[in-house]
Amino acid sequence: MRAAYPVGLVIVVISGPGGAGKGTIVDRLLEVDPRLWLSRSWTTRGRRPGEPEDAYRFVSREEFEANIARGGFLEWAEFLGNLYGTPMLDAPAGHDVVLEIDVQGAEAVARRHPEALLVLVTAPSRDVQEARLRQRGDPEEVIRKRLAKADSEADASRRLGAHEVVNDSLDRAVDEVSGLIAARRKKHGC
Ligand code: 5GP
Repeated sequence: MRAAYPVGLVIVVISGPGGAGKGTIVDRLLEVDPRLWLSRSWTTRGRRPGEPEDAYRFVSREEFEANIARGGFLEWAEFLGNLYGTPMLDAPAGHDVVLEIDVQGAEAVARRHPEALLVLVTAPSRDVQEARLRQRGDPEEVIRKRLAKADSEADASRRLGAHEVVNDSLDRAVDEVSGLIAARRKKHGC
């Protein structure tokens, strides 16, 4: 019989520039792998039209800062004027944790958890990335800033040793990330 799966043994950190499609990959991973548990980040950003209410815990800057003060975040970062933070990991027993965070956040998590699996998701081309960003309805200024940030973020992530997965086809990219998770579980003996 299989041994019980140890709590939170694998931490999967998914990063990548806006428009790379990492959110879609994460959604699919959660569907196909019931052992994965998504950590819901906090943000001071406003909810986008049509964005699900539980995409983040949407809070005021005061609430966010109070949680920093009480040591409630594993990591937090400022991204284009808004604060984003990962609450202390609290996965239900038997689950591995997935974090969908930016590269600064991945760096902070890797410092505290060197065993974390770091994945960098990139778009197959700049055109595809730009088109995906536009679909979300962000203001032009935000789209421009996100594109400008994309290359430096991808470079920083590669320097951290993240596994790069090109999101050219959703099924293929999800399979690739699933394969990385399976290999990491095997390495950890579970
Ligand atoms: P968006 O505004 O597009 O939802 O997110 C902006 C960036 O913040 C994305 O790169 C996203 O992955 C990142 N992000 C989301 N949650 C967190 C978090 O908890 N910590 C950090 N460091 N980045 C986050």
